[in-house]
Amino acid sequence: MLKGIIFDCDGTIIPTLERQESWFRFYSKRNNQPWRFNCFDDFKEFYNDRVSRPGNVQNVYDELSLPCDMSDKSHPVWPAYEQFNSENPLELYPGMRQALDDIMALSSGLVLGLNTSNSMRSIKGSLVEGGIISYFKHIITSDTLREKSPDGDCEPLKKPNTFSIELMLGVLGTEPEETLHVGDTIADLRASHGVHGNRSLLTVGACYGYEGSEILSKGYGGLRFDELVDDASGLVAVVKKFL
Ligand SMILES: [Mg+2]
Repeated sequence: MLKGIIFDCDGTIIPTLERQESWFRFYSKRNNQPWRFNCFDDFKEFYNDRVSRPGNVQNVYDELSLPCDMSDKSHPVWPAYEQFNSENPLELYPGMRQALDDIMALSSGLVLGLNTSNSMRSIKGSLVEGGIISYFKHIITSDTLREKSPDGDCEPLKKPNTFSIELMLGVLGTEPEETLHVGDTIADLRASHGVHGNRSLLTVGACYGYEGSEILSKGYGGLRFDELVDDASGLVAVVKKFL
């Protein structure tokens, strides 16, 4: 019986990649660099590939010949990025608020958590404006992982590490087998397995997010998502199935 649901945020609740594309398009124009992508999917493929390599988003800036030093918080890219974000607040994915309402209405016993590798500062505005922040009993972010890390480095603790999932299960008070993990990446899938030794959460892959159905349906090694959905309303049907 389903007792808890852990949601990823970027690419699952908030269409962050769409804004990344808008930002890079804007920043390229500002720096007189040509935009080399024909469509959103072109950019998505490039972006996902480069951020999966060591160096992460810095690779995207470098290959697009855009001025940025991710390690230098005084670099002028940061105020420009924050100004862009404040002028372009992100809305939730279409139907997400309704889907969460519907899920909450299905069972009073369900408890929800939000587990993101992003910072609270980056996501809070969208969750507040979307009217859903109070739906989550607990939110784990990169800030949480930094606090928990022995040397203050949150990177090794991010998904696919199971650390944040195990932390969340503890806070929600649910067992892996009665908890659904909703995510849009293979890292989310991997973080759902090998929990508390060798236990697994139920998993649903959001194909509308960063990596898409082709990648998510292949899984990772022998791991597969239990369910895949194409939009927010699909989540409600999956929750009903597992209740
Ligand atoms: Mg995500």
